[in-house]
Amino acid sequence: MADIDISLYNTVTEGKATILFPKSNEVFYNPVQEFNRDMSIAAIRTWSEMFLQEKRDRINKKLVKAKTEEERAKMNEYLEQQINPNNFNILEALAATGLRSIRYAKEIPNLRQVVANDLLEDAVESIRRNTIYNQLDENLVRANKGDAMRVMYDTVGTEEKYDVVDLDPYGSASPFVDGAVQAVSEGGLLCVTCTDLAILTGSMHPETCFGKYNGMPLKRTFPHEMALRLLLQQLQTSAGRYRRYIVPMMSCSIDFYIRVFVRVYTSPNEVKKAASKIGVIYECSGCHSFAIQPLGKIDIKDNGSERHTPGSGPPVGQFCEHCGNTHHIGGPAWIAPLHDKTFVSNMLQHVKNNEKDYGTNVRMKGMVSVIQEELDEPCYWTLQRICGTLHCTSIPMLDLYSALLNAGYKVSGSHCNPQTLKTNAPASVVWDVLRAFIKKHPVTMANISENSPARKILAKEPSFEVDFTRHPDAKAESRNCVRYQVNPTANWGPKARAGKKQKTVHESSKAEQEEPSVEK
Ligand SMILES: [Zn+2]
Repeated sequence: MADIDISLYNTVTEGKATILFPKSNEVFYNPVQEFNRDMSIAAIRTWSEMFLQEKRDRINKKLVKAKTEEERAKMNEYLEQQINPNNFNILEALAATGLRSIRYAKEIPNLRQVVANDLLEDAVESIRRNTIYNQLDENLVRANKGDAMRVMYDTVGTEEKYDVVDLDPYGSASPFVDGAVQAVSEGGLLCVTCTDLAILTGSMHPETCFGKYNGMPLKRTFPHEMALRLLLQQLQTSAGRYRRYIVPMMSCSIDFYIRVFVRVYTSPNEVKKAASKIGVIYECSGCHSFAIQPLGKIDIKDNGSERHTPGSGPPVGQFCEHCGNTHHIGGPAWIAPLHDKTFVSNMLQHVKNNEKDYGTNVRMKGMVSVIQEELDEPCYWTLQRICGTLHCTSIPMLDLYSALLNAGYKVSGSHCNPQTLKTNAPASVVWDVLRAFIKKHPVTMANISENSPARKILAKEPSFEVDFTRHPDAKAESRNCVRYQVNPTANWGPKARAGKKQKTVHESSKAEQEEPSVEK
């Protein structure tokens, strides 16, 4: 450490890492991202336990079948190796200062190596400096100067894959996806951040979203879940080209970005199912009812084999059956589950068992708890939209949940937003519950315009006896946690992309890596 002049740097400690940032940089460290890094470490640790156990199970199975002593001894030796530490590696493709990689190296057990890659010499220097400062072996954190796409494409056709590929760009991860889905090992974990939510949620320029993610956003009611589903669709579509498929472990909408953790496998048979996991989503432009149109359908034949056919539809008429308006179309998007419930529950347990390892553990437990309770049904209603559409007073969440539960349907919230309803009840049932609620809490019809969706919906009588009796499952267990974050700091959000005069290592390297084809 003798050759590092500490006086030139500010230090920031996060988790077990202390990082040196040059004092000359004004924009250097974004504390809001600590949550992203904490979640990533917990996710990778959770995945690694599953990954290593699966490896051992596979070898054990073979061990049982081993015929000769010699074969058995060989297998045992191999098993021993697998049980030993130093078992997997990570690529951080856009590593910038190296803070994330250094935390990975210090906080993730059984890690053989993390390759911290960046395009810029300054960034690579920073990674090396911080590796030394944190007294880490340079083999454990290998700083690499390279174009992220080249580094990932270099793995194609080789056995030298990365067990974890982490993409945490400034902006969209989209340009890196094709390389990433090929660079991750069998059953490995792909972690992807996108911070370009203005694009992904369609708050402006939906056509730009289509250009980047090959899907149309829906901005009105469930923009953040839609953003997750567009990204997952892109990951699957890219993986499918290489006979690979994704299994989402956990998909999170956090503050000003989204972060997904998916496992990647190879199987042409599973790729065939992708058409049924991807679909188009219709959202009524008047009452915001929504319906899902899968692109493909799987029938199980008498002999148990699967038959794939085009999906049948559409699930909506030309005009909304509830209010008579037209629909907006979103997608194609991922319509299969966003999370793997076993993974989520393992991760929640892991965080509870290791609270002291995570500075943001309170929020982690809150978010993962809500995710654990989330139904797999795509998209959600928001209280604000439902009551806004009908111009009625806000229905208490517990009343809405209870009425649907009492009618035999499932309900949950969404981690994307407080005051949300996910349910397997059809839209007609949700409107029936509201019709019954409004009978008790009347709406002043004089204030509602002639063509309003509210008039069309409220002209009908509820089709069943709605029971608002408080249902025991209406109150989510996660309510005892910090479930939704208020803005953590004033003027929070992504750090501004640095101007030309004060371009920093972090900002410039990530921004420039967004154009991987440009030779620098
Ligand atoms: Zn409608």
